[in-house]
Amino acid sequence: MRQLTFLRPGKLEWRDVPEPRLESDGDALVEPIAVARCDLDLAILKGEAPFRSKLLHSIRNHAFGLIRNTALGKAPFRGPYPFGHEFVAEVKSVGDRVRSVKPGDRVIVAFQIACGSCNNCKAGLTNSCTSVPPRSMYGFGDLGGKNWGGAFSDLVRVPFADFMLVPLPTSMSPADAASMSDNIPDGYRTVGPFLKKNPGAPVLVVGGGAKSVGLYSVMIAKTMGSPVTYVDGDPTRIRIASELGAEILNVVGSYPEPETKYPITVDASAHSDGLSFALRSLLPGGHCTSVGIYYTKKTPIPLLEMYGRGVSFSTGRVNVQPTLHELLHLSEHPHFCPCKVTHKTAAWENAAEVLFDDGPKVVVERRGVFVL
Ligand SMILES: [Zn+2]
Ligand SMILES: [Zn+2]
Repeated sequence: MRQLTFLRPGKLEWRDVPEPRLESDGDALVEPIAVARCDLDLAILKGEAPFRSKLLHSIRNHAFGLIRNTALGKAPFRGPYPFGHEFVAEVKSVGDRVRSVKPGDRVIVAFQIACGSCNNCKAGLTNSCTSVPPRSMYGFGDLGGKNWGGAFSDLVRVPFADFMLVPLPTSMSPADAASMSDNIPDGYRTVGPFLKKNPGAPVLVVGGGAKSVGLYSVMIAKTMGSPVTYVDGDPTRIRIASELGAEILNVVGSYPEPETKYPITVDASAHSDGLSFALRSLLPGGHCTSVGIYYTKKTPIPLLEMYGRGVSFSTGRVNVQPTLHELLHLSEHPHFCPCKVTHKTAAWENAAEVLFDDGPKVVVERRGVFVL
């Protein structure tokens, strides 16, 4: 089968690889029909995320022992590996024990591999499932625990299919739902749980490096009925945030002195200045969630101000399965419109080129499967 393979920053290549097979009676095989580019994918493609080539990795590891440690481990983004991890798929075959889906069903595939039955999964910590290697996920090769495959493939094996696959809501098209695998739940967790406790509370979203996640935070906060201020200097993201109903604070260069008037803030800038702005904008008792990855060795945070105001802060990888289930009911709301965040859709054959496009969200569709 054909599989889009990440070689190095700036280079993707279609390769012929063996098809996956059912390896357990709890597995499913699925054919991706709509794949979205995750915000991290673009950073990797552009070489903005830490990266070492296989050759350099090997030389440094074995000859000099000089591998640089990063926040995600040693030399994380090392090609070649199968690319893509946000996708909607059609079920092709299932193992004997699979009950929740059948061949022909359209499903959202969670990007993290999790069993649903270990102690961590039962506690909602599906990003740390103990039944699989740490960080197990699609589309990252060895960094994703082991090679689970990638979404830009003709066929993908899904273990723990009853837990991993979510039927596509009737209100969503495959292209609209592709980021439900990852970036949309990532946006939801920044605002959803807090707005459930504090309905209508104003939200500040600092946009930037996590290009689409910040916009999904805006979309979900507006869907849940809150006023949102969106801070960014990028014209495309500002236009989209405005269309989603946010008030805009256009910041080019340094951030202004923050107004401390938000109980909920989000840092999607992936920059220490944006993080500081989000933290310093909090009201007493407020909470800031960061969805960015800061590649610097140290990231300053204004602890003294945070202490004075008694605010809290959280970061980390989303627990995608429970978060996805928690937000599914919002998909029928008229303000829940991921298509507004998608700036470009493209045909499958063009994936290797279009994925380098600037802008918050590219979705690639396998044309032809929709023909009756
Ligand atoms: Zn992702
Ligand atoms: Zn588990």
